[in-house]
Formats: sequence, C-alpha cells, structure tokens
Amino acid sequence: MIVKTYCARMDHGGCGIRVHVEKGRITRIEGDPDSPLNRGTLCAKGLAQIERLNHPDRLKYPMRRIGERGEGKWKRITWDEALETISEKIRQSIERHGREAISFAQGTPKGLELYLMIRLANILNIPNISTPGNVCHMPRETASNLTCGFFPIPDYDHPPACVLVWGSNLFQTNEEGILGSQLKRALDQGAKLIVVDPRKTTIASRADLWLQPRPGTDLSLALGVLRVIVEKDLYERPFVENWTKGFPELRDHLQQYPLQKVSAITWIPEEKIVEMADLFSRAKPACIQWGNALEHNPNSFQCARALLILMAITGNLDIPGGNVNRPGPNMMRPGELVQIKRFPDKKEKILSPEFRLSTMMGFVPSQLIVKAILTEKPYPIRMMYIQGGNPLLSYANARETLQAMKKLDFLAISEIFLTPTAQLADIVLPAATHFEFDDIGHYGLPHGFILARPKIVEPMAECWPDSKILNELGKRLGCGDYFWNDMRQCLDEILKPSGMTYDEFKEIGILKGTWEYRAFEKKGFNTPSKKVEIYSEQLKEWGYDPLPHYRELSHDHSEPTGEYGLIFTSAKDPFSFHSAYRNIPSLRRLSPEPIALVHPDTAARFGVNDGDWVAIETKQGMIRQKAKLEREIDPRVIVLSFGWWYPERDDLELSGWKESNLNILTSNDPPYEPAIGSPLLRAVPCRISKSQGF
Ligand code: SF4
Repeated sequence: MIVKTYCARMDHGGCGIRVHVEKGRITRIEGDPDSPLNRGTLCAKGLAQIERLNHPDRLKYPMRRIGERGEGKWKRITWDEALETISEKIRQSIERHGREAISFAQGTPKGLELYLMIRLANILNIPNISTPGNVCHMPRETASNLTCGFFPIPDYDHPPACVLVWGSNLFQTNEEGILGSQLKRALDQGAKLIVVDPRKTTIASRADLWLQPRPGTDLSLALGVLRVIVEKDLYERPFVENWTKGFPELRDHLQQYPLQKVSAITWIPEEKIVEMADLFSRAKPACIQWGNALEHNPNSFQCARALLILMAITGNLDIPGGNVNRPGPNMMRPGELVQIKRFPDKKEKILSPEFRLSTMMGFVPSQLIVKAILTEKPYPIRMMYIQGGNPLLSYANARETLQAMKKLDFLAISEIFLTPTAQLADIVLPAATHFEFDDIGHYGLPHGFILARPKIVEPMAECWPDSKILNELGKRLGCGDYFWNDMRQCLDEILKPSGMTYDEFKEIGILKGTWEYRAFEKKGFNTPSKKVEIYSEQLKEWGYDPLPHYRELSHDHSEPTGEYGLIFTSAKDPFSFHSAYRNIPSLRRLSPEPIALVHPDTAARFGVNDGDWVAIETKQGMIRQKAKLEREIDPRVIVLSFGWWYPERDDLELSGWKESNLNILTSNDPPYEPAIGSPLLRAVPCRISKSQGF
C-alpha cells in the first residue's frame, strides 16, 4: 500500500511524500512528484524519517525519576500515574504559589500541539508560556502585522526578476524541500539573486551579488540600502504616494545613515551597497526571502521593519512575483483554538509586560523564565511543562539554564528521545512521532494552506501524541468543557468552517485559502491608516522607535577587541533540526562532528590546522568544535555549528550537553530587543586556540 502524505516533524514539514506500508510497517519513503510544493524532492532528513520512527532509543513508556536530577535512574510508570502526578503538581502549584509560578514551554512547534498547549494554559489562566518565538519568526511576524497588516512571503508562482535572500540558507535548512526548491526554479528561470550572509552558503555561491556583512549589523545595511533608494529616487513613487504613511519622515530619518557610516559599521564597501540598492529596486518584480538569522540579536524587530519598508517602497508588496499575502483556508482560526479571549485576564500577571509585542503574542522571552526561576524576581517560577524542547541546547546561557532546570520544584517533559534536558525531568512522557497519529500541518502558518497528516502506523509501545496528552491533562484539570472526547472530535471541530470532516480532508490532502493580488487596492492594508505604516504611531505611543533605528550593541557584546579578537556567528547544518537528530545514524554520518569554519590566515595566527579540535572561548565559557579552514570567511569571523550534543556518549555528563554546545558561549543578559525581547545569540566576541578532543 502507498499512502500519500506530507513530511512532518523532521522540520516544520510540508514536502509531499509517498509512504510505502507493508504489514503495518513503513518500508520506504519517497518524494511525491505530484506535490506542488516540492515536486518529488526530499532532503536527507526527509529520507531519514523511518529511522527516527523505528529508533531503538525512542522513549516508549512514561517514566518517573528515582535518582538525582540527571543521574539517569528511572522507574516505568503508567500513563494514569504520570498524568495524575502532573495534574496534581499543577493544582498544588496554583494553590500554594499562584498560577504565575507555572511555565509551559514549547520547542519548535510542528503541528497542533503548540495551540493546544496555549489553550490549556489560557483556560487555566496560566500567564507564562515560553517559546523560541522571540528569536524565530515573531519579530518578523509582529513587524509585518504592524507595518502592512499581513506576513509577506515570496511569490514564486510568478517568477520574480530578482530575489533578495537575507539571513537564510534555505537550500540547506528546514525549508529546503519547499521554499528551497521553489527558489531554485525561480533562479533557473532567470531571476537575479542577491544574498546577504556572512558565510558563502550554497545559495550565496549562486548569487549575482553577495554581501558579507559583519554579523549582527543587518539593520544598518538595510538602512543604507533604503537611503540609496530614496536619495536616488529609485522608489516606486505612485505606491509610496498612495499607499504608505511616513515616507517624508523616513527620508529625514535616513540622513543619519550616510554610506560611509554604514560601510564602517557593516564592513561592506559603499559601492556594493549602491549596487545592491540599484539591482533590487530596478528589477520588477522582486521579492525578499528573509531568514531567522535576522532575529538573533536585539535589532531583530526593527530590522524586519526595515526590510518591510524596502518591499513597500520598491512597489513589491502584494503583487505577482513580489512579497504577497497568503490567507489560509476557512477553518477555526488559531485565536479561537487557543481561546485567546481568555488571554487578557492573565496579561497583568505575565512575567514581562514591558516586552509588549511578546506579550501581545502571548509569550515570555525564554531567558526571562530562566532568570525568574533563579532570582525569584519579579516572582518565582517553580514548575515547568516542556513540550518538544531542549532548553539546555537552545536557550542562551546554557549553564544558567541548567541551574534553573535543576532548581525547579517539578519538571515534566514530553519528548521522543531522552535529550540532555529531558534527563533532568521528574516525569518524562513518550511522545508519538508523525505517522503515528492524525494531525494538521501548517496550521496557523502564513503559507495559505493546511496539510493533512494522517495516522499511518500504530504508535510505538506506549507513545502518545502531544495533542492527546494535553487533551487528557485538560480533562483531569477540570476543564473538560474545553476539551474533546478524543482528538478526532477536535480535528473535526477545527475543520468545521470548511464544511469538511477530517476523513474528507484526508482524501484531499491539502486545503488552500483564497489568494488574490493587490487586495489593498480594494480594501487598503490592514493597518490603522489602511496604508503601509513606514512611520508607526502605534510604536511611538508604546514608547518604541516609530522608525527603524540601528543600535550598535555594546562593545562588550559585539566588537572584537582585546583578548576576544574574533566574532562568532553560527549556522545549522542540513542534517539536523536545531538540536535534534544527532542520534539518527544516516544523518550523523553526513554530519559526524561540530564544525567551526575558520579563515586560513586566522587559523595560522592561532596555530590551528584543518581538522584540529579548537577551543572557542567567550566571557561566558569555552566549548570545542573541529576546525575547517574556509577561505570565504572574513578573517575576523568564525562560524560555529549550532545544537551539538553526543547521544552516544554515556561517559559524558548529560550526554555531552556542554562540550560543543554553542549556548555555553552566549549570554542571556541585556541588551534585549526592547519590544519583543530577542537576546544576542550571534555576533559575540571570542577567541580560539588549538585543543584536544574529548
Ligand atoms: S525539507 Fe523538511 S519537509 Fe521537506 S523532506 Fe526535508 S525535512 Fe521533510
């Protein structure tokens, strides 16, 4: 039997796949050539799905810790005991310390489970939900909503004349199969390519113009490009006059960004900035493919605003081949699913009301949860429920995160494998992988469609989908009116406005929204002025910059000086997803060790040879990765690998959580982005030396 479905949970998912099933087991997976999204291509992670599904190290039963945290002593328990313990801990915590003493936390969401977790928290009036949103997606999303009223995505259905890829390596990262293949087709059809990236990525190798900025200075570069476009009258005058608000203020504001200054900040020659502005503004249509690298520093939100302004004043918003709005199909809206109307009740108790945009999205910057656990200010967080997340690897300042996890009164984690963070839990719940339950993919994402991901095989041992765990917890916590008899009922309810049941949806596989171009000409943009808000009165009223203003990070944080004479930035390899899959054999063979890219001149200066282990030190700590000499890196910069631990190393504490973990090197202290709380994860001064392995 062959089942057509969509790859999921190896990253955000979406590539169409054909799954071969024999006697209740999946025997082969191949790309679906009929899928309009990936047209048959699959990445290495997509091909490794069966390995993960049948991996012998998967968590199979709920377990309770019986030794010290991290000691590795567990007792198998029943689901009933696990859920009763967690419910009881939540009840006790609310009673003794208040609802704010609990934090729910999510790693990368891949299906409906994030929404159900928020729903449970909202119904219980628990204010503190932590996600990586402030360093992934939320700065771009909130900037988009405030500036033009929708999240603009590149329209590859109508090949653009030029694509500007900024801080994204989508030929190799999580969207390789979908956006990567669409971008490749656009390039094959003759689109010009501009790439902004400190590293010569595979995409940058194909670029007509590659700009290699000093890490963390993207906003300054964007303002320099805007200045050239405005000064040289390269903007789309009719659009600017009719559909933007605040252009004169922008013109004045850009006087602060002469090219000489921008060039000094970004390390990019002035003539290259002019060339980029010329190429992007003269190509019609043109689009921007932005990545989340932009969101890893305290200029994240305003950098997204600057790129939105660039899309707007060049006349590329909501036109074929530009950056477009893709509303989703008619179904229950995410706000309804998470019971957002209950959210205002808890806003006053949220940990970080000063980060207004984060609060509006219902999340707390994760570093503030860690600080509250440790300092007990403004009040203590005492228990956490973490779903599909590995904070020891993914939160800034891993050592502080470890202390915080150890200090909690109670920690429950739902996971597929026993990650370093899961090893610290009091209760571990075995989560099902995709193929083992019915789910809806791309729900709530701005791609304009949703995907059916039906159950294909029975779950391994006693694994449960996260959505079912949350549904059962909701019922045990006395919120049965808001939860469902079973998850099929939930799926049917979500789909109800479409007039379809989940069974009917499964047959179709994909449901698209109604897409149109230039919708603003009929109804304006979805902003208070009905125009693109270059100057935002709303931001001004809230006390934030109404126009994007580049803030140099303090010397302590971003300038390579003195003994810390290099800057590190980071990259994810194509064979992992954040910190996941180091234990999948086929993927590990492709990426066996953490690689630090170092310029040969820099390596020679520090006595490092190609293939040596190298110690990387910042003021926060030291890790080791393996040096690979790379001539295309700026000699002042090194590029480190993100998300490394060693699942096979039982001899190392918590499976080697700290040896090569990039977040041993990062700080979770301010400065943070003022509106949304992004900390600095890249562009950190460091030094290197030759080292031994471990
Ligand atoms: S790009 Fe993502 S969705 Fe596509 S095959 Fe790879 S992991 Fe799956």
